[in-house]
Amino acid sequence: MPDLLDLDRPALLEFVESLGQPSYRGKQIWRQMYQRGVIDPSAMTDLPAELRGNLADAGSTPTDPVEVQTSADGSTSKALLRLSDGELIETVLIRSKPRDTVCLSSQAGCAMGCVFCATGLQGLRRQLTAGEIMRQAILARSWSRDEGRELTHVVFMGMGEPLANYANVSEAIARLTDPDGFAMSPRRITVSTVGIPQNVRRLANDHPHVNLAVSLHAPDPALRRELVPVAGASVDEILDAVRDHSRQTSGRVTFEYVLLRGVNDSRGHARRLANRIRGLRAHVNLIPLNPSPGVVGERPSRRATLGFQQTLQESGVPTTIRVEQGRDISAACGQLRGDRIRSKK
Ligand code: SAH
Ligand code: SF4
Repeated sequence: MPDLLDLDRPALLEFVESLGQPSYRGKQIWRQMYQRGVIDPSAMTDLPAELRGNLADAGSTPTDPVEVQTSADGSTSKALLRLSDGELIETVLIRSKPRDTVCLSSQAGCAMGCVFCATGLQGLRRQLTAGEIMRQAILARSWSRDEGRELTHVVFMGMGEPLANYANVSEAIARLTDPDGFAMSPRRITVSTVGIPQNVRRLANDHPHVNLAVSLHAPDPALRRELVPVAGASVDEILDAVRDHSRQTSGRVTFEYVLLRGVNDSRGHARRLANRIRGLRAHVNLIPLNPSPGVVGERPSRRATLGFQQTLQESGVPTTIRVEQGRDISAACGQLRGDRIRSKK
């Protein structure tokens, strides 16, 4: 028996028909999972009892997290999820009125090796399936609903590089935006990527209304290679792909730039960055480094951060500084490890 969450819509309908059921039963199951968040077939009360029984084995492993931590201010919760093969991943729910945002993981671990990122430390363990990505979104939305709110935004900024798992991420976006399913507007979904040019272009083509955020971190090729050692593309190649993306989608791109003290945080870096991205409809989001055990880098001073922002703005580049929530539970950007080391303290 397949896991129902691992079937795309045509495959689910086909599977249900193979059990001798009419195809509308498949549609009912789809809506139960993606509209109501019910992934346990025995709880799909609009199905005949016999079918529920038949489906029992195809039920998804429970979404109950192994562990949940909530920040002291209550704004952020992080769930540690165990996948069917024992891999551990993390999902973060960020409550910031009036929006609730889920930060999804797209891989267990990550191959890109960014020197300042806790996820990068473990290397790539494996790709997540579309079902495993959806399971996180379903969990986050049911938390929001249980608390009387609604999940309004989805960001692929958890563990892993989404564009290095293109097929599954693309399928997850299709399910997230399916009007008969999760029904979220693509404009409320953001894919954050280290910049894999070919897949940036595919994303523009396949999901033109999804927001693109590109983690640049450096204006120059040498510094970029130092900070993001594995990603193959050069800054120029990435910017070319971003230009194509903008042309095709007429959307605005966000550049994420993690500031590391004394490494990439000078006004000179800011001026060179501004020169590089001139002409693009872009916005820069500065992320002061969140230190984690075992990773490189120190948090920049407040003064350097503001100076960097000011320099970019003087050059005409709209620039914000990310408000990081959940640092006390290691739920902020770059702090997800997907293991229990930190929580054992
Ligand atoms: N792999 C994708 C998405 C996940 S990381 C990417 O790199 O874009 C999400 C964001 O967190 C990226 O912008 C990344 O550079 C940033 N990040 C990683 N480690 C960080 C850290 N220690 N402190 C602050 N931001 C970090
Ligand atoms: Fe991977 Fe993104 Fe972390 Fe880099 S910052 S190691 S791309 S998850």
